[in-house]
Amino acid sequence: MAKVFFASARSQKWKYEESMPGRLEQLLTQIGMMNYFSPDEWVAVKTHFGSDGAHRIIRPTFLRKVVEALRKIGAKPFVTDTVRIKGLDYLDVANGNGINHLSVGAPVILADGLYGRDSLMVKAGDILGEIAVASVIHDVPAMVVCSHVKGHINAGYAGAIKNLAMGGVSASHRTCGWKCGRGAMHTIGEGELVWDADKCELCYQCRDVCPLDAISFEEEKLVWNGDICWRCGRCERVCQSESLTLPADIGRFMRSLAEAARAVVSTFEPGKILYINFLTEIQPECDCMPTADVPVMQDLGILVSEDVVAIEQASMDMLLAASPLPASLAHDKGLKEGDDILAGLHGRPYRLQVEEAERLGLGSRGYEIVSLD
Ligand code: SF4
Ligand code: SF4
Repeated sequence: MAKVFFASARSQKWKYEESMPGRLEQLLTQIGMMNYFSPDEWVAVKTHFGSDGAHRIIRPTFLRKVVEALRKIGAKPFVTDTVRIKGLDYLDVANGNGINHLSVGAPVILADGLYGRDSLMVKAGDILGEIAVASVIHDVPAMVVCSHVKGHINAGYAGAIKNLAMGGVSASHRTCGWKCGRGAMHTIGEGELVWDADKCELCYQCRDVCPLDAISFEEEKLVWNGDICWRCGRCERVCQSESLTLPADIGRFMRSLAEAARAVVSTFEPGKILYINFLTEIQPECDCMPTADVPVMQDLGILVSEDVVAIEQASMDMLLAASPLPASLAHDKGLKEGDDILAGLHGRPYRLQVEEAERLGLGSRGYEIVSLD
């Protein structure tokens, strides 16, 4: 049975050891970084840089603790993410959100290059065939996957599997474009964006959220440039009148996340990835969206494990036991004590991700919690 180490978010004594950074430090000591990483080894600390308005990301102070734990054993860490908007702009976003060399104590780099298409094709599975894994993540020998656990309009739940799948894969590949990247998970077929003019309220949020300026309006008609579109689905997600559709199959999407995660993991030797899930600032939506709504449940704590399936199952179980917060989207949706909050927010069969990941051999849903407290 896989061990999942846990530190609560509660802090009831006035000393550093009781703080969340202090507890993370103890967790990393307890798990023993030298069991996974070696002196002089380059280690990617994978996180999500967020967006200009989505400030509820993993805080730089926690990334710094991970970097310090790696440096303590002589490893050579760097902090990284794949390109979500234009690369130069994304580095500015990271800096604006407090993630830079000075704050985290290690270089901050883009995993798939400034243009977001430096990636290598890796065997994924029956659904995706192959997928474009970011070159840095493909080549680095070891990785700490830091995942901000939260809701997600498409995936329902977003944690380590999604961080590996969407975050370890490029939006686009140098030769085969979006069809080899994240877009292959988000949409099916040719992924043609369909606009329903009758429903459209001309709010222009789709145009404004598009990272590639692939949407414009001419005489109040939407013009979509399918040649440059990454099929990231962000425009569809922000459209509140449901005027935009990218063809999709939600079950396929969940299973393809597990496939892509397996492809990313397959580029590492066994035992060279450590997972840290932050059950903090659990907002309804992804860190890439233009805003971050208030959390739908209280901060719960930090989990660490070498088993991605176990840590995801443990995280989901903790979220299931949490209470919905007042004055949040959970409250607006009428969710009550005992409800599955994330399912109530987005209506997605999110557990499919972890079931499929176990079926593909990524780990075990059976786990034992080892608590610091
Ligand atoms: S977000 Fe939706 S409603 Fe707003 S302009 Fe775009 S298609 Fe129309
Ligand atoms: S899916 Fe929408 S938001 Fe994403 S790149 Fe294409 S047009 Fe832009």
